Amino acid sequence: MVKLCDIKENETVTTKKNHPCGSNLWTVLSKGAEFKLQCRGCGRTIVIASETLKKSIKNIAGADSSAHKG
Ligand SMILES: [Zn+2]
Repeated sequence: MVKLCDIKENETVTTKKNHPCGSNLWTVLSKGAEFKLQCRGCGRTIVIASETLKKSIKNIAGADSSAHKG
């Protein structure tokens, strides 16, 4: 199981369940008791409790070097 402490801000994670837009790639915007994630498919942001995220996360895809330039 993925450890939430391994997830860093601006990293990309994948979830077991796809977002309605079809993507399961998410950028981590902020972390804490609740995580804020942005869907890479449609750009929507969600807030999810860390306990819920722990169950639904598939893996950590790594840091996204293409985003947040500048
Ligand atoms: Zn989406």
